[in-house]
Amino acid sequence: MIWQFIMNVDLHCHTTASDGSLSPAELLQLAEQRNISMLSITDHDTLDAYSQIDQLDLPLRLIPGIELSSKWRKIGVHIVGLNIDLQDPTIIAGAALQTKTRRDRAEKIAEKLAGMGFKNTLDAARARALGGQIGRPHFAEHLVAIGAVKSSQQAFKKYLGAGKIADIKACWEDIETVTGWIKAAGGTAVLAHPSKYGLTRAKLTALIGDFKDAGGEAMEVISGQQTPALTVDLASLSVKHQLLASCGSDFHRHHTPWAALGRVAELPDNCIKIWSRW
Ligand code: AMP
Ligand code: MN
Ligand code: MN
Ligand code: MN
Repeated sequence: MIWQFIMNVDLHCHTTASDGSLSPAELLQLAEQRNISMLSITDHDTLDAYSQIDQLDLPLRLIPGIELSSKWRKIGVHIVGLNIDLQDPTIIAGAALQTKTRRDRAEKIAEKLAGMGFKNTLDAARARALGGQIGRPHFAEHLVAIGAVKSSQQAFKKYLGAGKIADIKACWEDIETVTGWIKAAGGTAVLAHPSKYGLTRAKLTALIGDFKDAGGEAMEVISGQQTPALTVDLASLSVKHQLLASCGSDFHRHHTPWAALGRVAELPDNCIKIWSRW
């Protein structure tokens, strides 16, 4: 398997602590099978996976991380924090605030869905979250289960995705605040999957400028499976804006080849790899 020789760094993935389907232990097992040598678990707005891991006996270098939801000009933007101090009170308080925000947001999402004729989606989504962070994917899975839509993708397209009726994002803190939490915890703030916000080049440049002003130091040049042309483009953006380059699969579950754990192309040579600073 050629990937095992090329790629051994994956700095973005999810577990059952948020919207992933593998437990932290199962994820680490898969990471070992795929010969990953450096891994960060970056669950949405929680560090809980790390309290479920015995950090003393790991076959790889585990970089403590988190993916924080935020907003920028009314757009939902994700900021990954890497190499953070898991004991830092600021990031712990930040994650606690985000957890509460997610719970409150879930109620609002359920209200919007009720308005569309889907009753009692809150309990169903909570059950699907298995005690972890509740998010839109759990509502999407429920809508699939009751036959309202054919796939999660379709649930996002019709109800939950950007600009749709049950897309509630006003609740998130701004990028300065969440970047501040990461920096307080000694971490590196990374602009996650920059190509996935549907921004024009001018707006993306403005976002990168504001992110840097907020203390952001890196961007994901590779997020899952992407075209070589996009990789070249994002690599040159990282060089132009003097941001460190990160890479990750954004793995959530099996059978999603576009986001497979450890199957991430190498960063181009012109980038400065984020781990060179750790
Ligand atoms: P939330 O964290 O609740 O805002 O939900 C965002 C998450 O939903 C992302 O991290 C993805 O895991 C998932 N997601 C976003 N867009 C889609 C989509 N179009 N289809 C399926 N899942 C999606
Ligand atoms: Mn997710
Ligand atoms: Mn994300
Ligand atoms: Mn993610």
